[in-house]
Amino acid sequence: LIRFDNVTKRFGSNVVLDKLDFSVASGKHVTLIGPSGSGKTTILRLLMTLVKPDEGTIKVGGQYLTHEKRNGDLVPAGEKHIREVRKNIGMVFQQFNLFPNMKVLRNITEAPVTVLGLPKEEAEQRARELLEMVGLTEHIDKYPSQLSGGQQQRVAIARALAMRPQVLLLDEVTSALDPELVAGVLDLLRDIARSTDITMLCVTHEMNFARDISDQVLMFDSGRVIETGTPEKIFNDPENDRTREFLSAVL
Ligand code: ATP
Repeated sequence: LIRFDNVTKRFGSNVVLDKLDFSVASGKHVTLIGPSGSGKTTILRLLMTLVKPDEGTIKVGGQYLTHEKRNGDLVPAGEKHIREVRKNIGMVFQQFNLFPNMKVLRNITEAPVTVLGLPKEEAEQRARELLEMVGLTEHIDKYPSQLSGGQQQRVAIARALAMRPQVLLLDEVTSALDPELVAGVLDLLRDIARSTDITMLCVTHEMNFARDISDQVLMFDSGRVIETGTPEKIFNDPENDRTREFLSAVL
């Protein structure tokens, strides 16, 4: 469903991703782990088209995100094409990024109405179902600032799911939370991973969570995947010295 081919991303002279190849099959839950600055978040930002690769191609659902075919030629993707492919991708950020001036319900209905063209009633019905799923029905009429961090993150998860994306990107979604709120959000994501066929790509420092939900773990270092395997393999029997070093520092 997701495919990176030979993707290089530089910021100035800093090579953040170095000829990166990897793919994620439909319905799989893949976790990216690795030291700070190894390029994990940049991968999610590339998928959200918040940044563009310097080289290489990215495909989502069989379509190029970075390019489009015009008259048989592969040319850099235009805005319209990017918007279409991006509809398949939802993202939850570390800092929630809710619209502060909109109540909870509108935070969730805004994109389905404006981007997907869903009738307002239908979008609100969908939002109510999602709010029930994330356990926030009674907060539907509040502004984000009236909610705890954990509640805001639940709204952000509901907002991402409201677009019915094929892919859910999770970027260190519990890093900004008070410790006592972390478990609830992770439990919710475990439920979603178990009960839906959504493809997940997570960047996380929560190794137990990674172990629980992942079909596959990718270990990053210096912009490259240095080791990949099942969570059992990576956490119990890593082959690469850097992986071993990293895990012994974080576990
Ligand atoms: P962390 O776990 O700390 O979030 P990460 O593995 O997710 O780290 P990235 O956020 O992808 O790492 O960043 C990789 C490198 O790219 C870092 O050296 C960072 O400073 C640099 N970088 C990221 N975004 C930008 C930007 N917009 N401009 C310049 N440099 C950037």
